[in-house]
Amino acid sequence: MVDLKRVLKSYNHKNVINDVSVSVEKGTITSFIGPNGAGKSTLISMISRLIAKDDGDISIDGKDITKQKNNDMAKKISILKQSNNVNLRLTIRELVSFGRFPYSQGRLNKEDWAKVDEAIDYMELRDMQDKYLDELSGGQRQRAHIAMVIAQDTEYILLDEPLNNLDMRHSVQIMKTLRRLVDDLGKTILIVIHDINFASCYSDQIVALKDGEVVKQGPTCDVIDKCVLREIYDMDIDIKHVNNQRICVYFA
Ligand code: ADP
Repeated sequence: MVDLKRVLKSYNHKNVINDVSVSVEKGTITSFIGPNGAGKSTLISMISRLIAKDDGDISIDGKDITKQKNNDMAKKISILKQSNNVNLRLTIRELVSFGRFPYSQGRLNKEDWAKVDEAIDYMELRDMQDKYLDELSGGQRQRAHIAMVIAQDTEYILLDEPLNNLDMRHSVQIMKTLRRLVDDLGKTILIVIHDINFASCYSDQIVALKDGEVVKQGPTCDVIDKCVLREIYDMDIDIKHVNNQRICVYFA
């Protein structure tokens, strides 16, 4: 379980995360939604310790994250940020093998390579695993980075807008893969996501943020609600029920 209590973060005397309390159950997908600048990225970066909080408590499975050793954290929680457009001269397979670093410190054993193979297959990258990252499309590169996170094989996986650069087929493929990681392997996934329909169709819980505060958190059906969405996005969004899912219509 991930537990945030009264967390605060400020930059230049302005609170960008203000008194946020959120809890995430194990074995679920939680989506963080909200307009640009709401604080979504800052929040998940604090959970993974990439950014230090200024106040409040963050614990994972009851343990204060500030008291954990780096390597223990790296086996418990992985994060993929948006900045994966650095074109390193690496093949997909090499990149994915970096996910095993917390276990192997660079000397991968048979089990590590098996995890690398598994992650490559999960993301359907086997045919192109020896291609260099700078030979790939943005979407293929994104899938390679997600494979690296899968190879890290942590209980908790944090993803910051993983659908950026992806076409519809690959977006659906990624969300289905995340669902499988949760439903079949018991992972817990926290995801910052822009497209509220992907959040609606694939998450168990949604945390809606605006101006650094939680507007609403709860089961997906409670957050994908006309009044809540109006409060978050300052616009009227119709909600249609299609195949037992709530689809937001925001083009009008
Ligand atoms: P979101 O992910 O919801 O788009 P962010 O978490 O990236 O929002 O940003 C929240 C707010 O914090 C924004 O107003 C942003 O400008 C500000 N912010 C983020 N990082 C920094 C930083 N390093 N220095 C100053 N302000 C920052």
